[in-house]
Amino acid sequence: MHEQSTKPVVLLIDDAIDIHRLLETRLRAEDLELVSILRGAEGLETAKRINPALILLDLNMPDMDGFEVLRLLKADPQTVDTPVIVISGSDQTADKVTGLDLGAIDYVCKPFNFPELRARVRAALRIHHLMQLLAQKAHIDGLTGLWNRQHFDERLAEEVAACERNDRSLTVVLCDLDNFKSLNDSYGHAAGDAVLQGFSRQLGQLIRRTDIACRYGGEEFAIILRDTDAASAMSLLERIRSELASMVWPRHPERSVTASFGLCDGPPGARNDPNAWVEAADKALYQAKEAGRNRIVVAGGNPGDAMPLAKAG
Ligand code: GH3
Ligand code: MG
Ligand code: MG
Repeated sequence: MHEQSTKPVVLLIDDAIDIHRLLETRLRAEDLELVSILRGAEGLETAKRINPALILLDLNMPDMDGFEVLRLLKADPQTVDTPVIVISGSDQTADKVTGLDLGAIDYVCKPFNFPELRARVRAALRIHHLMQLLAQKAHIDGLTGLWNRQHFDERLAEEVAACERNDRSLTVVLCDLDNFKSLNDSYGHAAGDAVLQGFSRQLGQLIRRTDIACRYGGEEFAIILRDTDAASAMSLLERIRSELASMVWPRHPERSVTASFGLCDGPPGARNDPNAWVEAADKALYQAKEAGRNRIVVAGGNPGDAMPLAKAG
């Protein structure tokens, strides 16, 4: 998910400089940042680059008219969901129908009725905000509030590409709670759920804002540690491991919970293949389990070098 500035950005594409001046003044009281572009083609390129919350689009422009700009915006996956309000001197029904059918969210005629234009801008920004919340929700795990598997897959592909491009370090971690089935069997599913939630909260508190913690599935978690090599990852994971092992759980204070970790800071050979990172981390996790659980294993290392453990729970 992409970071946002606090004020929504509204992109105005209109060839008339007077309209830019007018809207700049009349929208000043609104809680938004206005970006002004005078040409259709440049507007398209800007929309892709800045990902605005709303586009105000003139129809009658010299090089590329508004309908064409709208068609191209709606054909591009990067801009298809950006709401567009057509602003036009034409009050012809045919133009309104064409604009709305091409995917505009609204159509406002010039000369403007400003209170109405402002209200329509606010309404479009509210819809954009709700759409963003929905999109974000689809990436969040319901039980733990962490990112879900789909989000992990998407972000991992992005981060692996970025680390290759910019020669940055990256560490991918897979983590699996130990003997979790037996915990469920002994104390019930609700107690298991409480552990998943408690561990997720702990993860959220210990990682950096730029790291990405996900529920990978069941009692497995995946963490993407950006700009982090294996040595720094080890010290963070050791803290997570030992804090988890010493946590006291209200539903079963007599029984502690531990986790095993496999980490990969670059798979052998295929650095640009996200699956290779996960496979290498998974293999290391398997070795951590085999070596006795409650420990951290680095992919490619000797499992005998696994982090020595405190008393297992
Ligand atoms: P290991 O140390 O080898 O990982 O053993 P384990 O028992 O943790 O692993 P196993 O794969 O045998 O069992 C995982 C258990 O996790 C079984 C499943 O019922 C439980 N589980 C998966 N998702 C949830 C969940 O959302 N809530 C609860 N309470 N349990 C879950
Ligand atoms: Mg397990
Ligand atoms: Mg498991």
